[in-house]
Amino acid sequence: MIEVRGLSKHYGEKVAVDDLTFTVRPGVVTGFLGPNGAGKSTTMRMIVGLDRPDAGTVTVNGRPFREHAAPLAEVGSLLEAKAVHTGRSAYNHLLAMAATTGVPRRRVDEVIDLVGLHEVARKRAGGFSLGMGQRLGIASALLGDPQTLLLDEPVNGLDPDGVLWIRNLLKGLAAEGRTVFVSSHLMSEMAVTAEHLIVIGRGRLIADSPTAELIDRA
Ligand code: ADP
Ligand code: ADP
Repeated sequence: MIEVRGLSKHYGEKVAVDDLTFTVRPGVVTGFLGPNGAGKSTTMRMIVGLDRPDAGTVTVNGRPFREHAAPLAEVGSLLEAKAVHTGRSAYNHLLAMAATTGVPRRRVDEVIDLVGLHEVARKRAGGFSLGMGQRLGIASALLGDPQTLLLDEPVNGLDPDGVLWIRNLLKGLAAEGRTVFVSSHLMSEMAVTAEHLIVIGRGRLIADSPTAELIDRA
């Protein structure tokens, strides 16, 4: 469970996040919907302690992210769809990540299976397509077998197969009782992926309700 209380953040004159309060519960996919620039990435960065709030608090399972003994086992995140620039194979890239985070080696094979990177695991990760790069990013996020997963615009630029794949993966992870929080600027995508929606605009909360209720109102 993620609890955001009175969260605010500005950059210079610009208010990026404005007094946001919401809770993300385990067991269903929760969508974080809003147009580009609404403050979704900033909020997600604050949840994992990459940005410092001006005001407010964020806890994950009752504690700030940084106060968890093993933060990466608690929260997995894909916060920027940035390509992996490495000459290493995808397998070795994940193996190196596992080594530095104390994750057992066999978990690398598990996540490769989970995200369907089997056929390209020995290929150079730096040469991956956008879709394969996203799968690798999600594999990295899942490496610590986290109870909570944060994904910032994971379907951006993916082909329909990739979009469908991520949708089903997220639903499966939520059905296992995990907390899954996924941002998008696409209502059409969130309508079919998320059971619950947190909607923001200009940094402020617009709606926090089951997706079905929001669609009925629209
Ligand atoms: P979203 O993820 O919903 O597209 P962001 O959280 O990236 O929104 O951005 C919210 C607002 O904060 C935008 O106006 C953006 O330009 C601004 N912003 C985000 N990051 C920075 C930064 N590092 N420096 C200055 N302004 C920023
Ligand atoms: P690099 O280009 O960084 O040298 P390689 O892909 O050549 O990485 O692999 C180096 C080592 O990693 C090899 O010993 C190989 O056994 C192991 N390895 C690479 N990919 C896989 C994979 N998909 N499954 C199991 N082991 C792998």
